[in-house]
Amino acid sequence: MTVVRRVARAALAVAASLLVVATWGDACAPVYAFPDAHPFSGSTWYNPYDVSPGSGWHVANFHAHSIAWGGLTNGHQPPAEVRAAYRRLGAEIAGISNYHLIDTTGAGADSTWIPTYEYGYSVPKSHRLVLGAREVQYLEAPVGERRGLKQYILDRLRPTAALTAINHPVMRHGHTEDDLRALGNYDLVEAISSYGDSPAEWDAALSTGHHAWAIGSDDNHDITRTDLLGRCWTMVLAPSTRASVVLGALKQGRMYAVRGAAMRMDNGVRAVTMAGDTLAIVLDRAARRVRFVGDNGRELAVASDVAEARYVARPADSYVRIVVENAATSFWLNPVVRAGAGLMLDIEPVEDAGATWALRIGLLVLAFLLVAGLRRLGRPA
Ligand SMILES: [Zn+2]
Repeated sequence: MTVVRRVARAALAVAASLLVVATWGDACAPVYAFPDAHPFSGSTWYNPYDVSPGSGWHVANFHAHSIAWGGLTNGHQPPAEVRAAYRRLGAEIAGISNYHLIDTTGAGADSTWIPTYEYGYSVPKSHRLVLGAREVQYLEAPVGERRGLKQYILDRLRPTAALTAINHPVMRHGHTEDDLRALGNYDLVEAISSYGDSPAEWDAALSTGHHAWAIGSDDNHDITRTDLLGRCWTMVLAPSTRASVVLGALKQGRMYAVRGAAMRMDNGVRAVTMAGDTLAIVLDRAARRVRFVGDNGRELAVASDVAEARYVARPADSYVRIVVENAATSFWLNPVVRAGAGLMLDIEPVEDAGATWALRIGLLVLAFLLVAGLRRLGRPA
C-alpha cells in the first residue's frame, strides 16, 4: 500500500468514526411530524395563582452544580457545601443538578430533596433540567441535535421523571424559538438564567399553546464566586416545601422566576386574580414598572410606580403574563391562559414512520459507502 493510500485510508477511518459518534443519537431518534400552532383558546381562564388559602411563597433554586464526574463537569464544591451556601442566602429548596448524575446526599434526611439532574453534553448546550427523576438517560448527539432528537429525548424523559425544563434556551441557541414552538412534552422553560434570559423563546412556546411555565435558575458552578451566587431563582407558591408538594406546584405553574442579587427580595406578590377578563396583581409595595405581556411577547400595557395594576384581556389575547420590575429585582410571573372545558392538554408531535425509515436507510447507505471506500483503499494497488 502506498503512503498516499495509507493516509487516505486513515483519514476515511477517522471520518467514519466521527460520523458514527456525531449521528448515533440522530440515527436512534425518529423523524416527527410537528403539529401546527394551537394557541390557548376558550372563554374561561386558567390562573395558576388561584390557590386555596394556606399556601405561601418559598424561595427555591433547582439548578446548581457540585463536584461530579471527578471534577470534569466544572463543579467546584461538594454538594453539601453548595446546599449550605444557598441555605445561607435564604433558599428553602436548594437543588443540585449535575450532568447525568442524581446527587443523593440529601435523600432521606431532607424533605425538600428532589432527585434532579441536568441532561445534555452536546456542544450547542441543548440542556434540560430533569426534576423528580427516577433514572438517568444518556442518549445525545455531541455535536448538535436535530429537532427530532430533541423531541425524542423529551419523550424518553417523560416516563422517567416528574417534570422536564428546557434550560437556558438562549445559551448558544441550544433550543431556538422554532424549537420551542414545535417541540412538545416539556413542562418548564428556564426563562431566567445566569447564562441569559430567554423571553422570546418562552413567548414562542406560550404563543403556540404550550403550557410551559417559567423558572429562574442560578446554574451556579462555583459558590466562591459570590457575584454569581443567588442571582436567579424561583418563588414557589405551595402549602409546604415537601418535594412532592413543590413538584405539584411547579406542574400547575404556581411560581415565578426572579432575577436579582443574593436572593434578596425587595418586593413580593400578594395576589394575582382573574375576574372575568380582568387580570389584576397586588404587590407588597410599589414597583417601578408592572408590564403586561401577551402573544408573541407583545407588550399590552405598562403601569409605573404602582403596587396594584390590572389589564382587561382582549379576545385576541390567548395568554397574558406579568413582569414586575423593582429597584433590585425583576419578577417574571407565569401567564393566565385561555382554557376551555375539560383538561388543558398540549398537542404533542407524532412520529412520521416513513420519514424515520428513509433517514435510517439513508444513514445505512452512507455507512456502507464508507466501509466500501475503506476496503477499496485497503486493496493492493
Ligand atoms: Zn446547562
